[in-house]
Amino acid sequence: MRILIKEAYAVFQERTKILQNADVAIEHGKIVSVGESLDGFNPEVTIDGRGRKLLVVPGIMNSHIHTDETLYMNVIPDSAKHIPWFRDWTLPYYHAINREDLYWSTLLSCMLMLESGTTCYSDSANVEPYLAADAATKSGIRGFVAKWTSDIGGDFSMPTDDCIRENEELLKINRRKGRVKAIASVIGINRTSNSLYTAIKELALKNNTIVTSHEASGVEDVKLCLKRTGKRPIENLYSIGFLSERTLISHLTVITEREASLVSKTGTAVVTCPTAELKKGKGFTRQGKLHRLIKDGVRICVGTDTSNSSNHLNVVRAGTLASLIAKDVSQDPGIADVGTVLSWLTETPYSIFGIKGGKIRRGYVADVSVFELELGFYSKGVLQELFYGNNQKCIATIVDGELAYCEGKFKKFKREDVLQECASRAERIHRRLSL
Ligand SMILES: [Zn+2]
Repeated sequence: MRILIKEAYAVFQERTKILQNADVAIEHGKIVSVGESLDGFNPEVTIDGRGRKLLVVPGIMNSHIHTDETLYMNVIPDSAKHIPWFRDWTLPYYHAINREDLYWSTLLSCMLMLESGTTCYSDSANVEPYLAADAATKSGIRGFVAKWTSDIGGDFSMPTDDCIRENEELLKINRRKGRVKAIASVIGINRTSNSLYTAIKELALKNNTIVTSHEASGVEDVKLCLKRTGKRPIENLYSIGFLSERTLISHLTVITEREASLVSKTGTAVVTCPTAELKKGKGFTRQGKLHRLIKDGVRICVGTDTSNSSNHLNVVRAGTLASLIAKDVSQDPGIADVGTVLSWLTETPYSIFGIKGGKIRRGYVADVSVFELELGFYSKGVLQELFYGNNQKCIATIVDGELAYCEGKFKKFKREDVLQECASRAERIHRRLSL
C-alpha cells in the first residue's frame, strides 16, 4: 500500500527535530521519503494535513500489558491493595472466563491500543498465547505474546520442565511470517524458581529473543523474596545470572540503590508502569528508582499494565506520568523531557524488540502514528502538546505500511461489532462472578 501523509509536523530522525509542512511517503511497508514531496509518488491513500494540524510520530509501543484482562476493565475497586487486588479480584476472573473470552479480550485490547496510536505491544503473560496471537493478527497491530510461566505458587503453575517446553514451543511462532511474534517469559514475583529463571533466559538467548519478568512489584514481593531466597529480588536475579542485555524487567517499584546499580551494570532494560504503581499506592515515588535508572542510562520503556491497573491502554498517557514522576523525585525537570519520553515509547522498545522502526526515517519500518493537535501553533511545542496537551487525538495508526486505524475506522473489523460482542461477554462474566 502507498500512503502519503501531507503537510504535517513530523518528528524527523532525531527526537528533537520537528519538520513543518512535511510530507511522509510510505510504500511496501517502509518509509520511503520524509520532508519534500516525492516526484511521481502516486498514493492510494492520502492523509491530508492541509487545514488541520497533524503530527506524525514514530510508531508507539506499549511494552507491558495483559490483553487477557481487558474484558474486566474498570471492575477492581481502586481502593484494592496490591495483594488482595490480585488474589481476590484478578485470579477469580481468570477462573471465570473461557477461551473465546480470552480471544475477544485481546481483540478489544488491540482496538483500544490502535485507536490511541499504539502500533506495537508486548504482553508478558498470556494464558492462551496462541489465541492471543490470533486476535492480535486479526486486528492488524504488531505484537508480542508470551506464555504465563510459573512453577511455584499455585494458580497456573506447571512443573519446571513443562514451563520450558511450552516456552520453546511458543517461540516457534517467530519462524513464521507475520507481525505477531513471541518472547520468552517468566511471571517472576516469587512464582518462579531460580532454575526456571535460568532455563528460560538460556532459551531466549538460544532463540535470539528477549526474556521478560515482573519484579519487585511491591513491598510484599520483596519480603517474600527475602524469605524464600535470603536476597532481595534484583540481588537474587543478579546472583543467578538472569540480568542481561536481553532481559526486560517490569515494575521495579521497590528497589535499593544497589539493586538499581545491578540493573544498570548488566544492561538490563526496564518497563515502568506508573499508573499501576501509583493507583495501588505501592510507594513507587519513594521506593522506586526510576530517576536513578534514567541517569544511569538504563533503557526505559513504558507500559499500561492490566486494564484495571491503568483503566486505559493509552501508553502516551502512561509515558507522561512516568516522566512527571522522574522529574519530581529527582527535582530535575531536564531528566525526562518530551523528547526523552518519546524515545521510551518508540526507538527504545523498537530496538529492544529487534524491529528497525521507532524513527521517522527513510528505509525504516512504516509503523507510524498520526495525531491531530488542537492548537499546533508552534513547531517547538508540538511534542509538549502531544504529552501534556488538552486533547491528544490519534487519527491514524499505520502498522507495517498498512492503515490499521484511520479516523474512527479499523481496517480489519468494525468497532461496534467488537464492542457489542465484548459487552455481552462482560455481562456473562459479571453473572458468573456474582459481582
Ligand atoms: Zn504485568
